[in-house]
Amino acid sequence: ERSYLFMLDTQSTTFFLNLEEAYVIDSTDTTLTIELPRKKHPCPVCGQRTDKIHDYRLQKVKHIPLLHKSYELFFRKRRYYCPHCAKRFAETVPFLGKFQRMSHLLKQFVISQFSNMKSATEIARQARISVTTALRLFDHVSYPKPLLPEVLAIDEFKGNAAKEKFQCILANPKAKTTLDILKNRKSEDLYEYFTEFSLEQRQNVQHVVMDLSNLFRSVVKTSFPNAQIVADKFHVCRLANWAMEAVRKDVQKEFSDYRRKYFKKSRFLLLKRHKNLTNDEHKEQLALMLQVSEKLCYAYSLKELFYEMMDSADSQTYALRFKRWQEDVLQHNLPQFIRLMNTMIEWKHEIVAAIETGYSNGYIEGCNNRTKVLKRTCYGLRNFERMRNRILYLAVTKNR
Ligand SMILES: [Zn+2]
Repeated sequence: ERSYLFMLDTQSTTFFLNLEEAYVIDSTDTTLTIELPRKKHPCPVCGQRTDKIHDYRLQKVKHIPLLHKSYELFFRKRRYYCPHCAKRFAETVPFLGKFQRMSHLLKQFVISQFSNMKSATEIARQARISVTTALRLFDHVSYPKPLLPEVLAIDEFKGNAAKEKFQCILANPKAKTTLDILKNRKSEDLYEYFTEFSLEQRQNVQHVVMDLSNLFRSVVKTSFPNAQIVADKFHVCRLANWAMEAVRKDVQKEFSDYRRKYFKKSRFLLLKRHKNLTNDEHKEQLALMLQVSEKLCYAYSLKELFYEMMDSADSQTYALRFKRWQEDVLQHNLPQFIRLMNTMIEWKHEIVAAIETGYSNGYIEGCNNRTKVLKRTCYGLRNFERMRNRILYLAVTKNR
């Protein structure tokens, strides 16, 4: 027998519906009707087993989308009759919760869809349920407070949830797992969060990777007595690019309109590492740009030396290179690089730790980029708990 809706035989349609023992008994262009096999049920009153049928009732069931067809599913629900005590009762339905209209499989489907870059609206439309229902189902996914790893990474990101512009992300950079999302980056809230962990757990944290933020540093120093703070290399290197940019902006103030626009447009040539400039034309363009201004030329060489210094394989090499770099900075006396030098001195231990351990927040950068895409897809995620659950769910499913 054929199922009209799917142009498959009813056995195949039954198979794709995947509703436990239920099978298709009828089908039109837009509907499917299913039934469960008749079998002996124990009477809820006297306990005697019976398969005597009292009647049937048609019940609408919401189920998973099937082969891109939209359809209505009807379940012909049976009621049994007990000849011993005259009780009438409904059969047990394995694919539906009590008093539920949605199949277990549809619920699973909806929840699993939240691991994709999709908005709740899109998921709801696909499952043909309301957005509220989709969100309510996803609310079943929740993550408890994590355990603290030996190496902890912390960073902020622009989440715009719960009336706060910035949220924090905690990760285990070694295992590449996302641990938690925190509501904001206020130090009192961070303290509160961390002190909820036992001292023993906090003492177990050996390294904390973070950007050069005084706020994070003081929170970490207080919360993790044994931890060595590791500066994230990406954030440190970005400072050299910012200094380079500041010098460019300063220098080009004296340029003609035309030249200023040209320099602005070509700034990537100044920012990119020289060894990564593979295009000969780009190399020539850069050389011409550097001829225009001595200051720019100094800044460029300081930036290049900075990167080389950050690439040091060990702390001794770093110390030597830093000494030379520092001498150059002092000699050229560009305020933007003097400031950078002072930051490097202030954060010396954390930067050396980055070189010695090789730990970075590269994994977190990846997570934050994914969050950005998710936020764009969903037109923002205002509800903090849901945002937290989505980011954690996404991280877990992407790590599989
Ligand atoms: Zn009975």
